[in-house]
Amino acid sequence: MNVNDTEIASSILEQHDYEIVNDIDDANIVFLMTCAIRENAENKVWAKLYDLDKAKRMGQLRKYGLLGCMAERLKAKIVEQLPSIDVVAGPDSYRHLPKLLAINSLHGQSAINVLLSLDETYADIIPRNQSKHSAFVSITRGCNNMCSYCIVPFTRGRERSRSIDSILKEVENKIDSGVKEIILLGQNVNSYRDYSVHNLSNDEDKNQTLNELQSPLADGFQTLYRSKPGGAGFDQLLRQVAGLDPNVRIRFTSPHPKDFNDSVLRVIADHPNIAKGLHLPVQSGSNFVLERMRRGYTRDAYLQLVKRIRHYIPNCGLSSDFICGFCDETDDDHRQTVDIIQNVGYYIAYIFAYSMRDKTYAYHHLNDNVPQSIKIQRLIELNQVYRQLSTEMNRQLIGQRQLILVEGVSKKSPQQLYGRNEANQKVIIPKLSNVNYMIGDFLDVEIIDFTPVTLMARPIRRTSITEFYTSKQ
Ligand code: SF4
Repeated sequence: MNVNDTEIASSILEQHDYEIVNDIDDANIVFLMTCAIRENAENKVWAKLYDLDKAKRMGQLRKYGLLGCMAERLKAKIVEQLPSIDVVAGPDSYRHLPKLLAINSLHGQSAINVLLSLDETYADIIPRNQSKHSAFVSITRGCNNMCSYCIVPFTRGRERSRSIDSILKEVENKIDSGVKEIILLGQNVNSYRDYSVHNLSNDEDKNQTLNELQSPLADGFQTLYRSKPGGAGFDQLLRQVAGLDPNVRIRFTSPHPKDFNDSVLRVIADHPNIAKGLHLPVQSGSNFVLERMRRGYTRDAYLQLVKRIRHYIPNCGLSSDFICGFCDETDDDHRQTVDIIQNVGYYIAYIFAYSMRDKTYAYHHLNDNVPQSIKIQRLIELNQVYRQLSTEMNRQLIGQRQLILVEGVSKKSPQQLYGRNEANQKVIIPKLSNVNYMIGDFLDVEIIDFTPVTLMARPIRRTSITEFYTSKQ
């Protein structure tokens, strides 16, 4: 989301004749785009802000500002601690940046706007795309789920969706400019719903909308809030986006398991260009903890969903998020999380020790009572279990042909490039081989080696999504 927000803010500034520069020494103002989800990330931003403040005081930098969630969350505290900051703008205030800069220039004081909006989606802003091959398209903003540990609903506001028409227009525009991959974005991306759509174009869509009205959530899942009926859901958006060009890969992030109803799963299964890698954040394997996290599902409902995903999309790779040491989590709760990792088998796992955030339900009603040392022990164990399993799963990929999109030069060696497969795993390939290819190409590769988190491959040929799947039939 931060990358996409940066692209939106940059586009707004460019529309007002500001120039985006690549070198900090050439900049008249430096903005930090921030996320407030984890304490660790926030501490890093504070350190960076103090550096910028020092640079300004020493005459090495003219101005600096703070954008995004952290601006929203800390508002007054930022200006109190850093009175020389020039601009502070929350995630719904990027349109006001030119005005804030003008106010700051006129009065020489910090200019702030952190108001949250009920309807801002930046639907009419074409983000300034930084990658030629992959483009983020924001489809929803905010979140209504109110998981008890999460600050997002407070920093990003209520959930709202852009219209299907405006999204299709932006995706078409990106495809025309040559991108090979579209990543649909939202804090809860698959709870997308366009309420402006009443008359759907064909009978299939009409029937699906009726089904969705009766059962918009995956079986066994609940929400704390009542969703408004009507409109067109994520399944319909996904089908239309995937239908624009069968040779452009579609991904989406970040989803909530509750919104993977059968209709969404069928659309993913039916389109070869929708990547067969789903992020299915479980957070914990214990019913007791899941209830305290207010996630809206039980362990069993989650495992049933995994079964349905494997039924519709047998080759689907799964990834997940885990929080260890949440309020009152016992050793037995932790064992159940270990067990769910072993039971499901994830190619990618993001594992964090719990850090309490103010404003959240947990902050007001629960005790952050698992000692830090136990949190770290559990984090290490979850990582070990995940890596053991992912190593075994990766071993089984040896010899398999996979489709990757080549994304860039490997950080470890300029002699290697990397791409991503359908499951979003990083795949390393040699820069020079018998096959002619470059960054931005789809490649048919054979997996030849692995680590717990990365695959190594031998390029077979340049290809396209349709060609790859036709030749596999
Ligand atoms: S779904 Fe839960 S964890 Fe995800 S952004 Fe919304 S409140 Fe936060």
